[in-house]
Amino acid sequence: MQAVVFDEHGGTEVLQYKETPVPEISPTEVLIRVKATALNYNDIWARKGVPGLVTTFPHISGSDVCGVVEAVGSGVQNVGVGDEVVVSLSISCGKCDYCLKGESLFCSDFRIWGFQTGPLDGGQAEYARLPATNVVPKPDNLTDEEAASMALVLGTAWRMLVTRANVRPGDFVLIWGAAGGLGCMAIQICKLFNARVIAVVSSDEKLKLVADLGAEYVVHRERQRVLREVQKITNRRGVDIVFEHVGSASWETSMYALKWGGTIVLCGATTGFNVSTDLRLLWNKQQNYLGSHSFTTAELVSALRFVERGHIKPVVSQVLPLKEIARGHKMMETGEVVGKIVMVP
Ligand code: ZN
Repeated sequence: MQAVVFDEHGGTEVLQYKETPVPEISPTEVLIRVKATALNYNDIWARKGVPGLVTTFPHISGSDVCGVVEAVGSGVQNVGVGDEVVVSLSISCGKCDYCLKGESLFCSDFRIWGFQTGPLDGGQAEYARLPATNVVPKPDNLTDEEAASMALVLGTAWRMLVTRANVRPGDFVLIWGAAGGLGCMAIQICKLFNARVIAVVSSDEKLKLVADLGAEYVVHRERQRVLREVQKITNRRGVDIVFEHVGSASWETSMYALKWGGTIVLCGATTGFNVSTDLRLLWNKQQNYLGSHSFTTAELVSALRFVERGHIKPVVSQVLPLKEIARGHKMMETGEVVGKIVMVP
């Protein structure tokens, strides 16, 4: 099969589109013929390398897949050959105390498929293998490209806002990077809960998109000061929730834009991991700073119910042939992307 493989960390020149063996499955796994696969920031991190992250080489990246089940292991009962599925990327042992308590994200064997697995185990290929418990039915109302674009950003945003930050009707939610893959999902989830979105974007094109998705207020961060706009909109009270994934470039504003007793929920830091925190905000204003990582299959399935009914829509801006993946990486790194980039093998 053809796959995008890399043997070392580096720039986009390390991405090779080449022939590799079709994966062999164990009794508990399925083989999927990939119809579409999406690009995520994890793919950039895997290629460049992150201190503390072990990447197994040769590496096939890619955690979002829509495809057809081509073969199932002898012990697989939940899916059959020919089923159309999407991947739910959180892999855990299924047997430890955490897994049995439904807290599989704390399992010591927890891994994100296509990011921390390998060798040759991600979705940016013609075929992919993974545990049968990590596929869910593809929503019928979506195209293959749309279905491939959603799981990682939808599940992550759902866990952040619903499970962790407990978004409520009327909450003001400040969403950084609102026109990106995560942001587009976050806006629509907030709308579902009748929360009031303040979306932060960096271009006029993105401004229109987030307004169409349901953002009540949009702040253009190149032309306006985010903190000043938040104070105006909330009558100096501050927002109830900040949806954070930017990190060092936005953290200080996030703290000052938050109301007394408000919650910052953070799932990543694309501009840098080291920030400075004024601890007086934490104790005096009694703010809450919550981390969130990945999502359970149960959380993804809850969110997909709203996709099936058309309340949450995928936002795909680019569909590329898989062999042109380097272009996608560059667009993602320079922040040009609106919504998601999807690739077709
Ligand atoms: Zn476990």
